[in-house]
Amino acid sequence: MMRRSRFTTLLLVLFWGIFTLPLQAQSEIESPSAFLGYKLGTHWTPHYKVIEYFRHVAEHSPMVKVEKYGETNEGRELMLAFVSNEPNMSRLEEIRTNNLKRAGIVDGAPTVDSTVIVWLSYNVHGNEASSSEAAMKTIYELVRPDDAQTKSWLKNTVVVMDPMLNPDGHDRYVHWYKETVGDQPNIDVDSREHHEPWPGGRYNHYYFDLNRDWAWLTQKESRQRIKVFQKWLPEVHVDFHEMGYEEPYYFAPAAKPFHKAITDWQRQFQYTIGRNNAKYFNQNDWLFFTREVYDLFYPSYGDTYPIFNGSIGMTYEQAGGGIAGLGILKEEGDTLTLNDRLTHHFTTSLSTIEVSSQHAKKLVDEFAKYYDTAQNNPQGKYKMFVIKADNDPDKLQALFHLLDQHQIEYGKAMRSRTLDGYNYKTGKNERVRINSGDYLVSVYQPKSVMARVLFEPRPELADSVTYDITAWEQHYAYGLDGYALTQRLDVQPASAPKKNVNNNATGSPYAYLARWQDLQDVGLLADLLKHDIKVRFASQPFKINDQSYERGTLVMTRSDNKTLGKSFDQLVQDIATAHNQQVDAVATGFVQAGSDLGSSTVRYLKKLRVALLSGSGTSATSVGEVWHYFDRQINYPVTLVNTDNFGRLDLTDFDVLILPGGNYRDKLTDSRIKDIRDWISSGGKLIAVGSANRLLVNKEGFNLKRKEGNDKNDDKQENNLLNSYGERQRNNIVNYNTGSVFRVTMDTSHPLAFGYDDNYFSLKLNSDAYAYLKDGWNVGVTKEDAVMSGFIGYKAKKKLEDTLDFGVQNMGRGSIVYMVDDPLFRAFWYNGKLLFGNAVFLVGND
Ligand SMILES: [Zn+2]
Repeated sequence: MMRRSRFTTLLLVLFWGIFTLPLQAQSEIESPSAFLGYKLGTHWTPHYKVIEYFRHVAEHSPMVKVEKYGETNEGRELMLAFVSNEPNMSRLEEIRTNNLKRAGIVDGAPTVDSTVIVWLSYNVHGNEASSSEAAMKTIYELVRPDDAQTKSWLKNTVVVMDPMLNPDGHDRYVHWYKETVGDQPNIDVDSREHHEPWPGGRYNHYYFDLNRDWAWLTQKESRQRIKVFQKWLPEVHVDFHEMGYEEPYYFAPAAKPFHKAITDWQRQFQYTIGRNNAKYFNQNDWLFFTREVYDLFYPSYGDTYPIFNGSIGMTYEQAGGGIAGLGILKEEGDTLTLNDRLTHHFTTSLSTIEVSSQHAKKLVDEFAKYYDTAQNNPQGKYKMFVIKADNDPDKLQALFHLLDQHQIEYGKAMRSRTLDGYNYKTGKNERVRINSGDYLVSVYQPKSVMARVLFEPRPELADSVTYDITAWEQHYAYGLDGYALTQRLDVQPASAPKKNVNNNATGSPYAYLARWQDLQDVGLLADLLKHDIKVRFASQPFKINDQSYERGTLVMTRSDNKTLGKSFDQLVQDIATAHNQQVDAVATGFVQAGSDLGSSTVRYLKKLRVALLSGSGTSATSVGEVWHYFDRQINYPVTLVNTDNFGRLDLTDFDVLILPGGNYRDKLTDSRIKDIRDWISSGGKLIAVGSANRLLVNKEGFNLKRKEGNDKNDDKQENNLLNSYGERQRNNIVNYNTGSVFRVTMDTSHPLAFGYDDNYFSLKLNSDAYAYLKDGWNVGVTKEDAVMSGFIGYKAKKKLEDTLDFGVQNMGRGSIVYMVDDPLFRAFWYNGKLLFGNAVFLVGND
């Protein structure tokens, strides 16, 4: 009895628990305003509070589950919330795997189900902060028990919400705003609260634009996000943004140009969504526009990347941004408030969920069709992308690591043959040789479209007016030889090549040699220098132990490192192994060909102190690329010096000064330029990156000159007085180059070009044209017919012929490196990273 009675009591307690707890819990969900303690829209909510609110909702609603998917550089949580009705929540895993089965990523057939997945991404640009406020209002509306309408949508819809993609940028903005604003916001645009200080909240910790990084995954936030994104593959994706504060609202359908890989269905459904959004905007008399400005071409945005993964990917843009604060007075006399901004984003959030729910079955069916086409009937001219197996193994590994993250499959050619193909290196169709074991990326696979987009030679623009880069073929980005084929070959499954590193030399070798080929070698050098190992580099090719070594080979001799005694060998070998790089031990300095290891042509490399100009006037993204390069890619110390202190900076504290892109002409006064010249003359090295070169033109002592424009025909056209005003934008594109790939002819005997062959494929970002240096080394130059891929206006193309890309001017004991093309742009041009390493470490040691 006793036992029985206790059992009954237990049952009763359980019974009570099961049936009363959820009801009680639901009634406790607080609105954002109640939870935050202020009316939503009257203050900016810091990241931790947004996260707390989502957690609160998840704790009190069986319709919500939250998941931490990562952390930012500054340690803030990245979170996803999954929202649906209770039956769907209990079979979330089934819904997820159904989608992956439809995509062919997971084996097996999906269950009979047409639950659609709608993914809402808020606040990728930190100072476009209204969307995270909208996210809180949205989730509350989805779970609030007395809203029956949202509940009806959630019967066949799972909403995945990322409330804040860029928490570091968001909090940089919000923290600054809070300390800047008075008791009441000042709506006058002149008030300081409308003018963020450098670098602004748009970017992440390293000043990267995360909305340019979806395909390249150079940033931590992107890598962690793509991992979960690939686990779900939503049918619909929205990326929420803000634009100029005088603008109306923008939503899909997007503007031209569309990438050709976008399907008719993906275009059509953007109209369906757009019309639904328009319905609510019309009801409220809110202004909006569609089909302008925001195009769908560059694959690394929050709209295009999901599109190339089978989603209906879209960007929504609200007026506002960092300038708008909590309220700002507009030209027509209205005040744009945070409440307006979040209400609009909230409205399109719900409208998108509604219209997706209404078309759930069609969306799911079309999603399945998309992936079926990908695997069985892939579109596009090219069917195979070949990557030669004898490419540098580090470059291969870096590329395959990227493909793995995008779930793009690759394999190997099963037999050798010769056939017609497009050779990336020559830019021509010709007979090409495929060897058994060469790597193949086939478009017959689930991620067919993404493979096509990343590798397709000369991606075709349906319309030329775009404001982003128009070429990004990965063969060029990674510096890999290979081809594109229009015919299908058999593919043997394969994984990325393993590198065999064997650093266990015994005895007392005379020296260690390390080849100089890619970014990993720069990382190795940086580490050796940090450990105070003395390093030299060969400025001539040589042969020893029957092995040939090219220019740039690092030479660590026992003689130079006597002070390290016995630990020298262990240190060099351990560091090399940690970097997965081979160091070859040699027993003699006497070479078979070339100069002996003790020759003066094997030059001593100094452990350099590097400064990078940053702060007001500099381009934050340009600073960020260089900072990230030193801090996260090669792990070598760099000192960021603010432009505000630059006038007082003692240059003799540094060996290298890097000028990033930007406009800080006012900091380069004649007297400061004289200081810089004196510093260079006594051994300093100045590196000018991208638009920084503009600031050095015509400065005393600097040999950089603009190329003279003297084409008579061009002048005639420019003076065409009958150009139509309506066509002015289109007429102007003849002068455009927003980003295309150029063949740069290299002088491989100069240290700036060590590790490269005669051609380097460079991403050229504008039409800045500089003449060859009269007194200096023209190490990398653009000649005729150098455009390999991308859109470029014919005038810009002409203007760029016979111009300087990479040059070195010696000045006294020092040097100036002009890098007209920015090899670190968005950190995704892997093959440019060695070039930058050459500029920092090798140039000037002669
Ligand atoms: Zn934005």
